[in-house]
Amino acid sequence: MEEKYIPAIFSKKQAVMKKNRSKVWPPFTQMKTAKTPLNIVKAKDTILFADDGKEYIDANSSWWVNVHGHGHPYLAKAIQKQFEKVDHVLLASVTHPKAEELAERIIEILPAHFEKVFFSDDGSTAVEVALKMVFQFWFNQGKPKRRIVALDGAYHGDTFGAMSIGQRGYFNEPFEHLFFDVDFLDFPAKEKETEILLSAKTLFETGEIAGLIVEPLVQGSAGMRMYSVDFLDQLVALAKENHVLVIFDEIMTGWYRTGKLFAMNHGNSKPDIVCLSKGLTGGVLPLGLTVATNEIYEAFLDESKTKALLHGHSYTGNPLACAAACASLDLFAKSETLLNVNRIVASHSSFLNKIKTHQALLEVRITGTIIALELKTGAESSYFSSIRDIAYEFFLENGILLRPLGNILFLNPPYCITDEELDYCYNKLEAFMNSLS
Ligand code: PMP
Repeated sequence: MEEKYIPAIFSKKQAVMKKNRSKVWPPFTQMKTAKTPLNIVKAKDTILFADDGKEYIDANSSWWVNVHGHGHPYLAKAIQKQFEKVDHVLLASVTHPKAEELAERIIEILPAHFEKVFFSDDGSTAVEVALKMVFQFWFNQGKPKRRIVALDGAYHGDTFGAMSIGQRGYFNEPFEHLFFDVDFLDFPAKEKETEILLSAKTLFETGEIAGLIVEPLVQGSAGMRMYSVDFLDQLVALAKENHVLVIFDEIMTGWYRTGKLFAMNHGNSKPDIVCLSKGLTGGVLPLGLTVATNEIYEAFLDESKTKALLHGHSYTGNPLACAAACASLDLFAKSETLLNVNRIVASHSSFLNKIKTHQALLEVRITGTIIALELKTGAESSYFSSIRDIAYEFFLENGILLRPLGNILFLNPPYCITDEELDYCYNKLEAFMNSLS
């Protein structure tokens, strides 16, 4: 395949930032062994520009958030315009037009049964709010339920509630004694679906389960693991039959990542709560939303103030973030966005067909704009696989910022990625796999 996209990988000057002089304590990083971080000084469309003159394709949309590409002029204008009106204002006993507009528009694009939008700051806080809604829904009615059901391998964020319902292990071992009770269902691999549905039924029928939470169709951090719409529909139906509230964490799967606006649009499931963040603002400002049905909202209405959802953050409903989100919704509504999404889906599919029998592969899978290549390692797939660092360096050297999840390499690029850039990424993925054989 011809390589039409050639990144600038020559060095203009040496990186000025020295790892040990930096006062930044970075996330998810063992600083004793980490290399000096890239210093990104400019970002435009799909490309990140480093201070040493090198360019990188943002193959994972900067932690899966940057859906419209970097430096989008329409988002910039919307934020600037909002800044000139109201930069920030509290959202308790005060409101502002952009929060109202955003809430109305979110309700319009979600299935009809959703009614109220609660604002927070990011994905983790959107999940915390969802959990509080679920527990307090039952508490307010005098029939508290204390258990949550989640899927094995789940990731819902790094705050305590979100960690409690996520995969237990290295990431959160020091805190495990503080987590609340969660029943984990096995990951619904095709051959296990029936067995897992039976386990779910048994759990739900105890009457002790307050809620079920899932990342619908794709578990992101677990390695872009994918499961069927059919299973999801059946699981949700079982939960509903047994009065278990259902939370869809669409923080990663929302905003066309799975090919449709939301993962829930692929099937018939009607969750009671949906969590949104990441691509919501186009990935330019932090914002989380927890959207609920009227049934849930009404369980908080009472003469007593203590029955209210007593939760909030200083930046709740930040007008700049709301303005970015409204502008981002305008971009999602453009036919060009869906055309780009469909173009990426088709392109991923041809690449999958080309490489599916590659000997370095355990599996290659696609849902929407996500393609994941699970590499053989001779051991179980793991976030701590030694291939991870080798792959990361290989792609950096080739002008691609791609953060593998252990031995799983994946692309979930901004939707403005060009065909040339996509082909370049595919070529390098193939080159890396060839280097392993
Ligand atoms: N839920 C899912 C499905 C996610 O993928 C993430 C982040 N990767 C989160 C929750 C947490 O979001 P945040 O990092 O914005 O707190």
